[in-house]
Amino acid sequence: MAKAEKYQPLDSEIEFLDSVTNGKYDRQIVTGLKKFVEEKVPEDMLSFYSKEELDDLLKLKDTPQDVESRMPVKMTRHYFDLAKNSIPIQVLVKASPLETFDLDGAADPGKQMDYSPVEGLIHKYELGLIYVASTCSAHCRFCYREELIAKKEVERPDGTIAPKGLAQISEIVTYIRQHNKEVAENGGKHPVSGREVLREILLSGGDPLVLGNKNIAQWLSALAEAGIENIRIGTKELSFYPDRFDDTFMDMLDSFHVSYPGVNLRIMIHFNHPDEFLAKDENGQYSSDPEGGLLWVESTKRAIQRLRSRNWINIDNQAPIINGINNDPDALRIQQRELKRNGVENHYYFCGRDIIGHKAFNVPIEEAWRILNESQKGLSGVETHARLSITHYKGKTEVVAVTNDPLPGIKGAENGLVIMKLLRGAADAPDRGKVTMLGRNPEAIWFSGYNDRVIYDEAGLFTQTYD
Ligand code: SF4
Repeated sequence: MAKAEKYQPLDSEIEFLDSVTNGKYDRQIVTGLKKFVEEKVPEDMLSFYSKEELDDLLKLKDTPQDVESRMPVKMTRHYFDLAKNSIPIQVLVKASPLETFDLDGAADPGKQMDYSPVEGLIHKYELGLIYVASTCSAHCRFCYREELIAKKEVERPDGTIAPKGLAQISEIVTYIRQHNKEVAENGGKHPVSGREVLREILLSGGDPLVLGNKNIAQWLSALAEAGIENIRIGTKELSFYPDRFDDTFMDMLDSFHVSYPGVNLRIMIHFNHPDEFLAKDENGQYSSDPEGGLLWVESTKRAIQRLRSRNWINIDNQAPIINGINNDPDALRIQQRELKRNGVENHYYFCGRDIIGHKAFNVPIEEAWRILNESQKGLSGVETHARLSITHYKGKTEVVAVTNDPLPGIKGAENGLVIMKLLRGAADAPDRGKVTMLGRNPEAIWFSGYNDRVIYDEAGLFTQTYD
């Protein structure tokens, strides 16, 4: 692959970029099981894995079931401190042989490489997603970017096989400008794809906040200069290391806002479970905050308050529903209520994807719908904005409803129906809003579980069947 030309910031970016300083962070990260085996972790972390657990994991080393070649072990001190008092958090971050007992699944979920015109960019929807980092401060065992983080090779549409590369500023800016020029010259629609101008970019990875402020700032100003109006930053640092939202980072965002007041920032956060942000008392219970609601972990609350005090920043939470972590309506009810109360929008909950090794984590689709629906009972309308989404090759799809009773006269609906609706579609989203109705299969964890139960497929989710 030819090396991309280095991006030269424009004069209009220099003042902003010169104002940015990098913060100093002490995440106290532990990387790799070897550190636990060789007892090279701080003393209080030694019991995080029992001897038997480590022995079981070591037996798998260098076999196809090696858990670390699927996803390297990584954890911050902050997350370890939360995990000490939380089984769901332990499940999220602690390697287990269950992860690789069944390695069924796709290396490139959603066939994203079909929509990658430039290395590190996925331009499938109206929004562009770019990979700017290939790691996070800690690693979720269920990660659906495992191919990027574990640096696996994926097949590209031209048949070549190579690891996914990261985006380079100069290439992305050139692509955006060219795309938007072609759209403008063609009366508002791209002549080939039918897409409109690229207005929104999601910085993703991995976690963009593992990069220094200066590096993030270069992305922000370059994208703003290229005409991007909304920049999203996808991050789990509020869970893994909330002190990342320090003065240097907030100063950088403020300075960006002064230079580019028309650009809206959307911080897409990822809380799976309220144990990631609520404080617990000595009995392991949440406590009431004298000022209202529940008491938060101090550093997380501080980070959220810093973000929400800036009215040009939106904060949205999205998270998958994962077996053993948050397949719990009570936990999700508390999470949705507390997030909304603290200025965070509940955006999506996701069904699992068919990534390699997904079976240990996936909750059946109909069960995920029941859990989310149950969790929203008793919440107010504004607290229940989250939808249950499953990512189809055609686009983000909502699991709208699951019925219990037979539908008289409808063949295949003897045990009830599952109704899905296409929320977004590739290119100019021709099938957005269309629905698919399926006969129920309570065991289904992926579209393939419904291949023989399609009743009505206006959305075209089964014109190409999933294996
Ligand atoms: S934060 Fe996201 S990208 Fe990072 S390990 Fe977890 S699921 Fe993967």
